[in-house]
Amino acid sequence: MCGVSGCYLLEGDEAGVYNYLILHANQHRGQESAGICVYDGLRLVGKKGMGLVTEVFERRDLRELSGPVGIGHVRYSTTGASEPINAQPFKVGYSGGELALAHNGDIVNSGELRRRLVSEGHAFVSKTDSEVIARLLALELTETDDVFEAFERVMEELVGAYSLTIVTSSGDLIAVRDPWGFRPLCLGWDERGYFVSSETVGLDVLDVEEWRELDRGEVVWIREGELESRIIRRERPAVCMFEYVYFARPDSIIEGRCVYACRKRMGRRLAEEAPAECDVVVPVPDSGRTAALGYAERLGVPMEEGLIKNRYVGRTFIMPEQEERVRSIRIKLNPIRELVEGRSVAVVDDSIVRGNTSRQIVEMLRDAGAESIHVRIASPPIVSPCYYGIDMATKEELIAADKDIPEIRNEIAADSLAYLSLEGLVDAIGLKRSQLCVGCLTGEYPTPVPLPDEE
Ligand code: 5GP
Ligand code: MG
Repeated sequence: MCGVSGCYLLEGDEAGVYNYLILHANQHRGQESAGICVYDGLRLVGKKGMGLVTEVFERRDLRELSGPVGIGHVRYSTTGASEPINAQPFKVGYSGGELALAHNGDIVNSGELRRRLVSEGHAFVSKTDSEVIARLLALELTETDDVFEAFERVMEELVGAYSLTIVTSSGDLIAVRDPWGFRPLCLGWDERGYFVSSETVGLDVLDVEEWRELDRGEVVWIREGELESRIIRRERPAVCMFEYVYFARPDSIIEGRCVYACRKRMGRRLAEEAPAECDVVVPVPDSGRTAALGYAERLGVPMEEGLIKNRYVGRTFIMPEQEERVRSIRIKLNPIRELVEGRSVAVVDDSIVRGNTSRQIVEMLRDAGAESIHVRIASPPIVSPCYYGIDMATKEELIAADKDIPEIRNEIAADSLAYLSLEGLVDAIGLKRSQLCVGCLTGEYPTPVPLPDEE
């Protein structure tokens, strides 16, 4: 998980400001570090740091990040620890100059590629697979000036998820979506120039007039004010279903589907598949809200905001230790006794990953006097790790990996527990199952994945 941005201005030098705005709209995709790198007319200048976009950049920084072309990144670490050295954009040199790259996704075979590059004499400075991509690309660009040709070779090597933005020291902007299309990426344009964002919300904030999503396997290359695009390589489509379930903002559009509408349909379908005998439907904020609305509407039961989120605590998963995660949920959510006391409550969330959230919510609602608690989850059980950039890295952490639904119900101490079916999820998204990556739900992945002992 991460967010990327890019901008190519036909006039003016506010690439830093535009990237800042796009990143800010994509902040939910990563809160650990943020970075912007711009071509200032001569060379690449950048700033990156730990924290939120608004914490990393001050007004003065944006003035210094002045130039016509630039890229940006917000990071949520999957590979590589949460350290400043692993922050992006990542800059490397090559025979033609320098390039900086921002990456969203995970490369499945990065370990193997890294070992090969190291044996060929490349010294790595970070632990990220984004550096692997940057070095592979730099190597190819030493052989050819043609970015499309370089990507033909790079795409042959890389297995996994990569939505990329790249700026070069000759002032080119490049945007790339991997051949499977795991992660979203979109392009907008108007008289000001071209803009790239992980999600469409990053283009909305700029009031960009025209936009489209990048195709899978597409490379967009903008230089000397002209945009050229090619599909370089195609594999089976594999759009991450979790973008629709949890990760993307509800006001984004992915593969032409409004994420909000998908979530609402997930909730409706869940109500059809697993209606609860309840007096009230309570969403788990914020990620469970839209599904809960669909669930309540379909059941004809009122929805109440029975759990209130402290909006200044947002980053449950960012705290790396399990123990910290456990404590932080109570800090984040508080029940309203008046709404739940003596009542049968259906509590709707988007997903269960490790099970901490549900367990504590049930406990909180029980303490607040709820008579019975029915947990409803608007996606199927997550049984297998994600190799493509969602933070569900190891099987041991996943509560559904080795427990069935009755065991999980018991573990979270709910009166009943039900998940949305895989078929229901696919119908709610509105793409074909063969167009989605559902690897974490089935253990069947669209690419080869590492064997357990290689992880
Ligand atoms: P659990 O406590 O079961 O591990 O986490 C489930 C809760 O975390 C759900 O409320 C879901 O919305 C949220 N969630 C699921 N995946 C992620 C993630 O990758 N990052 C963050 N911050 N929350 C997540
Ligand atoms: Mg949540």
